[in-house]
Order: sequence, then structure tokens, then C-alpha cells
Amino acid sequence: MKNVVWFKRDLRLSDHAPLREAISNGRPTILLFVIEPELINSEHYSNRHWKFMLESIAEMQQKLLPHNAEISVLQGEIRSILQMLYEEHGAFQLFSHLEIGIHTTFVRDKAVRDWIIKQGLSWVEYPQNAITRGRRNRNGWNKDWERFMNSPVVHVPISALNFQKTSNKLVNSFKPSLAISEEDDSMQRGGRSNGEKLLRTFLSKRYTYYSKNISKPLMSRSYCSRLSPYLAWGVLSIREVTQSTALRMRELPRNRNLQNFMSRLHWHCHFIQKFESECDMEFKNQNPAYNIIRTTINDHYLEAWTTGQTGIPLIDACMRCVNTTGYLNFRMRAMLVSFWTHNLQQPWQQAADHLSKQFLDFEPGIHFPQIQMQAGTVGYHTLRIYNPIKQAEDHDPDALFIKKWVPELAKLPAIFAREPWKMTPIECMMEDFHLGQHYPEAICDVEASGKFATETIHRIKKSSESKKFAEQIRQIHVN
Ligand SMILES: Cc1cc2nc3c(=O)[nH]c(=O)nc-3n(C[C@H](O)[C@H](O)[C@H](O)COP(=O)(O)OP(=O)(O)OC[C@H]3O[C@@H](n4cnc5c(N)ncnc54)[C@H](O)[C@@H]3O)c2cc1C
Repeated sequence: MKNVVWFKRDLRLSDHAPLREAISNGRPTILLFVIEPELINSEHYSNRHWKFMLESIAEMQQKLLPHNAEISVLQGEIRSILQMLYEEHGAFQLFSHLEIGIHTTFVRDKAVRDWIIKQGLSWVEYPQNAITRGRRNRNGWNKDWERFMNSPVVHVPISALNFQKTSNKLVNSFKPSLAISEEDDSMQRGGRSNGEKLLRTFLSKRYTYYSKNISKPLMSRSYCSRLSPYLAWGVLSIREVTQSTALRMRELPRNRNLQNFMSRLHWHCHFIQKFESECDMEFKNQNPAYNIIRTTINDHYLEAWTTGQTGIPLIDACMRCVNTTGYLNFRMRAMLVSFWTHNLQQPWQQAADHLSKQFLDFEPGIHFPQIQMQAGTVGYHTLRIYNPIKQAEDHDPDALFIKKWVPELAKLPAIFAREPWKMTPIECMMEDFHLGQHYPEAICDVEASGKFATETIHRIKKSSESKKFAEQIRQIHVN
């Protein structure tokens, strides 16, 4: 009997229970990562994700080299690959982390389970992110979270690994097509050393300016932790980050910045648990009372929104920025979704598809619940419609972020870069700037569309149908 350790969204060699178990039983162990066609073709994955994953795996390979071991990076449908390994090596036990993923990976995991049972093999899955499968409500969840985060990081004695080579008949031939030079150099690179460096610099210094800058589109890039892609692809475990933070909090008790950061590490798992308990939210409104709104897609809006050509400067700057760099802070993400769903009255599903491809840190368990929350389709949260003009005034007053990403507005005074429609004909002439020619006219009236959306959502929210569903949702997700 051999072991197969299947790496998925857990691209690390430490705090890795499946790897630890495979090493402990002493059997020959195959290390496997699979590039699956269903995921290459998924509407939620993009080249930048694969590039990040492969960079992270490359660093793992470096760590494995002195132990004469390597991860087989194979391309193909997972069951064909397992079948191939079975034919080459005979019976094996499969080890992996439990994946709380999109519908595609859920269906894939069920098919793998069926295949394993058919062959008379076994598959052991370990939780990560303090998530329980099949949980019906949140009773006791906070305690479980604390227990998981306080439990020791799993020690992986890699030097004791009994490595089993495979013939790698299905060697990876997939190359993410996005060349590095095509991207802004601020796109984060995979690899644990990069994640560890961010954690170190954040906890030693950058945290000092965290809360002050968390909502600013420009400064958040330096003063938020920027750990999200490393957590999303499991390059660092949430337990490792939580424990390092807790240690720092012991040195600096009552530090608000660290407390705020720790809350977000908790939210990380809270949202993934939410998605686990109600994975339909990848497709459907969580609260069906909202099914009556946003039923059609306007292609012109979709093109303008996804390419950053709406004529609303902060919206366009954010979209162009995330399309190029893969990152935006929380508030700007929320604002993009708010604009799409509330101001343009479009279905959130299109926003979810586009943004999941752009966010380097795409984490289904955070992504879908957040999108629905911002779209106002849950029914019990306070409705937040982010006015992009006010957001620019508050968080980019000098329009530095806008000017960086919307160079058409770069030479205008800040007030006009934020609101170019306020320029008089004489000012336009003096600046040689013509709305509609140098930059699109605003796609909608932000004030009027925001007011309409507020009234619409509040009307539905007050309905007995919405209240009934909202109560059911609360029973599942609220502690
Ligand atoms: C519409 C929308 C979609 C989002 N999609 C994702 C996604 O796919 N993947 C993702 O990791 N985050 C997502 N977020 C949450 C949040 O915006 C990012 O986690 C955060 O901006 C990442 O930057 P950071 O690592 O510097 O965060 P920090 O502020 O340094 O926070 C540390 C970590 O806490 C977690 N975290 C922070 N904020 C939140 C939050 N509001 N909810 C849950 N966890 C949080 C993340 O893991 C983050 O890395 C989304 C938010 C919105 C509004």
C-alpha cells in the first residue's frame, strides 16, 4: 500500500495534516498536484491564479529537492490520473485537505469519492480554516474556531518522507499564458517566502497604519497585510497567521490595529463556513424574495463596467486597477459590486464571474457571500450603497489613485478628476479636455440611481416574504 497526498488549495509543506499523516505511516508517498481541465475552463479561474499556484509549487519543489522528493504536477481529469497511479503503483490511500470550493470542485470531489469506493481504497480529508462540513447552524462555532486556531500547528518532518516517484506520463504541459511583463509589477507573486515576508513586515511595522488606511484604495496596498492570495491558495495556513498575530497581540495588548486585523482572520473562516452551509449562493439569491429584481443583463453596461469605461472615475480606476494587479481593498471591492448591482441594477452573478477571475485571492467561501451581501440579496444586513463620488472625496481626495489608473484625467485638478462633469465649458477649453471625447460621459446618474435602488431594496426588505427568508438565513448563519 502506498500514499498519495493530493495538494489543492493548500500549497505548503508546513501545518499540513494530510502530509504529516502520510509521513507518519511510513509508506511510500506520491505527492500530487493536478491541473484540471474543468478548472482551467471554469468561469471563476484565470491565468493569474495558475501562475500564482505554479510559482508556489516551484518554491515547494526547491524545499523538497534536498530530500530527493518532488510534487508530480500533472494535467488531466483527476479520476484518470488516480486511475493511472493505481495501475502503476497498485492500491493507495489518498490524503488531502477538505476543499470548500465552487460547485465544480464539489462535484469533482463526489466523483473522486465514488471512484475511491469502487476501487476499495480510502480517502482521508482533513479540515482547514476551522470549517465543519454539513453544519446546520452556528451554535458553538466561535468556540470551535478558537479551539482550532489554538491547537498546535501541525509539524511536518519532511526529512522522514518516504518519497515515491511516479512515471509522470501525464506531465503538465499547461503554461499560464499571461506573461509576467504584461502585468503591472504590483501583481503579487506566489511562493511561501513572499507570504512569510508579508506576515513579518505586517506584524513588525505595517500594522501601525492598518486601520487608518484600510479603506484607502492607494495606501491599503501598502498597509493592509496583503496576505489574501497566500491564504486563499493555502501557501500560509490561517492557523499560522492567527497564531503569529496572537503572539504579537500578547506583546501589544489592546492594540486596535492588531485587534481589527484579528477580526478579519475570524471573518475569513466565518464566511467560508457560511458558504459551506449554503453553497447554492454561488448561483442563486440567498433570499428568494429578491428574485424579482435585476432580471436582465445590459451588454453595454457589462462592457463598460468590466473594462473601466463607465465615466465614473473611481469606479473605472478600481476596475482597471484590479484587472491589471489582481488586488483591491475591501471597500473598493464592495463599491464595485454596489455600483453594478444598485446603480446599474444588474444581476450580481456577472460581477461574481468577472471579479473572481480578477481577484488573485479568489476564495469562493468569501467571494460569493460578500458579493451577495453587497448586492443586498440576503435580507438582514444593513443595506450599504457606496456612492463612488463620496468614496472618492473621502478616500482619494487628491485623486492620486484615480489619476494613476485613469490617465485621461491625470492633468485635471483633483476635484475635476473626481467629477469631470463639473467642469464648465471654459474650464474644459483651458484644460483641453472634452467629456465624451477624452473620457466617457457618466453611464448613470449616481444620486438618482442610488435613491431608486435604496427604495427598491427597502420595499422588498419590508415584505413578509423577505422577512421570512431572512429569518431562516439567520437561523443558519448567525451565532
Ligand atoms: C465583493 C467582495 C469580494 C471579495 N472576495 C474575496 C475573495 O475572493 N478572497 C478573499 O480573500 N477576500 C475577498 N474579499 C474580502 C476582502 O476584500 C479581502 O480579503 C481583502 O481585501 C484582502 O486584502 P488583505 O489580505 O490585505 O486583507 P487584510 O485587511 O490584511 O485582512 C487579512 C485577511 O483577513 C481576511 N479578510 C479581510 N477582510 C475580509 C472580509 N471582509 N471578509 C472575509 N475575510 C476577510 C482575508 O483572508 C485577508 O487576507 C471580498 C470582499 C468583497 C467586498
